[in-house]
Amino acid sequence: MAEDCLFCKIAGGEVPSTEVYSDDEFYAFRDIHPMAPTHVLVIPRKHIPTIVDATPEDAALLGRLLLKANEIARKEGLIEDGFRYVINCGKWGGQVVLHVHLHILGGRAMADALG
Ligand code: AMP
Ligand code: ZN
Repeated sequence: MAEDCLFCKIAGGEVPSTEVYSDDEFYAFRDIHPMAPTHVLVIPRKHIPTIVDATPEDAALLGRLLLKANEIARKEGLIEDGFRYVINCGKWGGQVVLHVHLHILGGRAMADALG
């Protein structure tokens, strides 16, 4: 846990959130400013600031993160119509919170172009 990291605090229950999923390794919660009818953030409990800070040691964790997101997307009823995963990285990538998080966006058609 990193001090002064909002998502570490959310995963630790110090800052309230609407829980979608929780286990020893991952926490998922509803985005406070949803960009789609379904907007869930999935985070590893391990504090990794950005996706490019991940190391080979994190390979299996990141694989399980995607599989966990698939499980959540299925539970949220997004599989039939499709949905989008987003990981923002750094300033120009639009990353505001420096703790790796996967956005699950669904419930509406996404624009053709990214960005
Ligand atoms: P990013 O721009 O990729 O860093 O995404 C950060 C996301 O966190 C944004 O979509 C915010 O709306 C969301 N967010 C910020 N604070 C909270 C919070 N307290 N609870 C839930 N979502 C949050
Ligand atoms: Zn953190």
